Amino acid sequence: MNPSGTGASAALFERARAVTPGGVNSPVRAFDAVGGTPRFIRSAQGAWLTDVDGNEYVDLICSWGPMLLGHAHPGVQAEVAAAVARGTSYGTPTEPEVALAEEIVARTPVDRVRFVSSGTEATMSAIRLARGFTGRDVVVKFAGCYHGHVDSLLAQAGSGLATLSVPGTPGVPDSSTALTLVLPYNDREAVAAAFAEHGPRIACLVTEAAPGNMGVVPPEPGFNRFLSETCARHGALFVSDEVMTGFRATRLGHWGLDGAVEGWRPDLMTFGKVMGGGFPAAAFGGRADVMAYLAPEGPVYQAGTLSGNPVATTAGLATLRRATDEVYTQLAATAEVLRTATGEALTAAGVPHVVQSAGTMFSVFWGPSGATPGRVRDFADASTQHVAAYAAFFHAMLDRGVHLPPSAYETWFVSAAHDDRAVQTVLDALPAAARAAASAEGTP
Ligand code: PLP
Repeated sequence: MNPSGTGASAALFERARAVTPGGVNSPVRAFDAVGGTPRFIRSAQGAWLTDVDGNEYVDLICSWGPMLLGHAHPGVQAEVAAAVARGTSYGTPTEPEVALAEEIVARTPVDRVRFVSSGTEATMSAIRLARGFTGRDVVVKFAGCYHGHVDSLLAQAGSGLATLSVPGTPGVPDSSTALTLVLPYNDREAVAAAFAEHGPRIACLVTEAAPGNMGVVPPEPGFNRFLSETCARHGALFVSDEVMTGFRATRLGHWGLDGAVEGWRPDLMTFGKVMGGGFPAAAFGGRADVMAYLAPEGPVYQAGTLSGNPVATTAGLATLRRATDEVYTQLAATAEVLRTATGEALTAAGVPHVVQSAGTMFSVFWGPSGATPGRVRDFADASTQHVAAYAAFFHAMLDRGVHLPPSAYETWFVSAAHDDRAVQTVLDALPAAARAAASAEGTP
């Protein structure tokens, strides 16, 4: 219950705003959508964050996905400390990057990988490779899917089917998004129509394997397989973005619940978050013949000073080797308890909502959903949310020691360190927070 107030966070926020736009180094960290001052975190341990005022919070952000094992895991920390002691970057090949690549190849349907430093770089590079490999230029994506701040992927949905889109942000020229087709998610007809019209020009279709950036909107059964088969029929590559889902939603480094292991696989995949163990590391990988197109073997150029950094790849490997079946079983159980309790608390308070999940990832949509009652199927559905209800809920949870993502459009993440005390803290906070949401202005 905010024992020490928020004075130090507020003071830091003032300093931060003077030297950094919005006072944050990534817009998702701002509290613009919920109001108030971001908490500046001084340290974290297990499931808990401690802010600069000494307040403790159960962390339901988990660094937006990476902290699968919880914060400051002793085993991971020991391996990282040993790596740091050996020097932090050499600009030469190293053993940890080979070992991490082998681990990823063993756990996912990719033949080879290339490391980069962020998910953005991974998707940007995968698209360049897809274009280079196919000799085509058009990229298909879905509204509401986020693939990092790659110019060509910051495209909003135009109205209607397969509209060639306009940029989603100033600074991205029309020419960067003119070759991006934005379609409604989970809509097979839209996909079929786009390929029928533009098929010979489509280099790739990129999708989140189970979208978590408009809240969690899982693919309808067989949707990813349909995408893969459609791409194959038209000679386009299927790029499955698993930056969020990889090693997070399930033990597999990919969204295995949609048949990915049985009979089909993406041509290219992107990874990030968990595989970096809390450090800036990401990767893209895929079919051997496609990856062979990458420099220095092939003609498509891609590079990075810190790519495959030995500390980051050591952290990633230390995390993945500890990400056992037991860890995912526990994560799934924790996620189930929290999403069920959240749904029950909101129902008891009379707050219209939909809870959706993909493996261990879940989120809440605030309000009745769109076209299909009780189900959020695409970005149009997700956009009907009553965000004021979430703002009230968010602050009531924060006041009771639970730090949720400061936006209604984000996934809630748990870690293997979310023990009974952490879970109980969330459960205790829910009824009052649900009542706060119910009395938010404009709640239906
Ligand atoms: N792809 C997906 C599915 C993501 O969720 C994200 C980030 O949230 C990215 C790509 C971009 O990753 P990064 O923020 O590391 O650039």
